[in-house]
Amino acid sequence: MTASAFSLLFVLVLLAGALLKAVLMLRQMRHVRARRDAVPAAFADSINLSSHQKAADYTGARMRLGLAELAVSLLFVLGLTLGGGLQAVSDAWQAYFAPGTLAHGIALLATLGVLSWLIDLPFALTRIFGIEKRFGFNRMTPALFAADTAREILLAVVLGLPILAAVLWLMGAMGERWWLWVWAFWFGVNLLALLIWPTFIAPLFNKFTPLADEALRARVEGLLERCGFRSRGLYVMDGSRRSAHGNAYFTGFGAAKRIVFFDTLLDKLAPQEVEAVLAHELGHFHHRHVLKRIAVMGGGSLAVLALLGMLIEQPWFYAGLGVSGTGTAMALALFSLVLPAFTFPFAPLMSYWSRAHEFEADRYAARQTRAGDLVSALVKLYRDNAATLTPDPLYSRFFDSHPPAAIRVARLQSQT
Ligand SMILES: [Zn+2]
Repeated sequence: MTASAFSLLFVLVLLAGALLKAVLMLRQMRHVRARRDAVPAAFADSINLSSHQKAADYTGARMRLGLAELAVSLLFVLGLTLGGGLQAVSDAWQAYFAPGTLAHGIALLATLGVLSWLIDLPFALTRIFGIEKRFGFNRMTPALFAADTAREILLAVVLGLPILAAVLWLMGAMGERWWLWVWAFWFGVNLLALLIWPTFIAPLFNKFTPLADEALRARVEGLLERCGFRSRGLYVMDGSRRSAHGNAYFTGFGAAKRIVFFDTLLDKLAPQEVEAVLAHELGHFHHRHVLKRIAVMGGGSLAVLALLGMLIEQPWFYAGLGVSGTGTAMALALFSLVLPAFTFPFAPLMSYWSRAHEFEADRYAARQTRAGDLVSALVKLYRDNAATLTPDPLYSRFFDSHPPAAIRVARLQSQT
């Protein structure tokens, strides 16, 4: 391939993907707005018109921000690649570090990380202190936001930089098959992260306290017993410090796995509904969804690294993306900017897979508890999180990891 042919291919794929995303978001806005004035029949008894309209307006506000973010990220990627941005960053660092050295590579990639973070910052601020606040969800103070940011930067420096340095070193030192080594290292780091996240990283940001409510505890332990599930414990997380959105999740694996309820979820749901939500989470465990996800991510990252192993040797890959030099760090930087454009067409596949898992977990919950309890829990969560009940089907196919409300509830009701 020639450099100019690759430039053309890249621009076409990038623009086509951005256009498709914009069309999907506009469809979602139109679809939701057109259904704003009537609650769908299946929810008419449980969700009132003002909640339904709030969900429609919330969806619209997030889509508008998403469109602005899409435009800015398109300019960002084009500016750094064909616009010569990355080349300029690399040249600037050459005044301090010799090109091709580990220090120069780390400086280049760290700068890319800082630039991406800066570009994202106004959107994060608008999301939290604009939209979430306007719709009554935000509990985050500017001081907490600053403290969170400081902790994230510290983690990036203490954990991120050494990992990056190790990857760059492996790329340089391991010969032609470096990508196998990098993959093994990367996979190991990810498994380790899953293992230490719940006990060491998550507590830096939130307080986790053992579930204290005796009656609920007994109910939940009964369910765990029936499902043959052993875990390190049941925890309540102070999610209310940052947001009014409620959730429950299940983290870690092996002996480190634990079940975490947001305090905001426990406030909203009746005990039998909490049990049903937990049964759904156990369904993910029972069907080994976490393991399957890890396996697919492992396979995917191996394929992606093998591809990078090929591209790194091709002069057209660099020249086609507006860079005059070559090198491992530059290849990594370009690759991380360009890859999302080429993987976006797979988004519907991944979303489909994720929704299939949700259906499986729901079916499991319907067997272990009462489907009606899960339905009423879901309806409360849709209502209180202002999740739209009427998503555009095509938008949903691309972006929704969970099935649309109406389909999910109808399927559960058929399982009672
Ligand atoms: Zn789920």
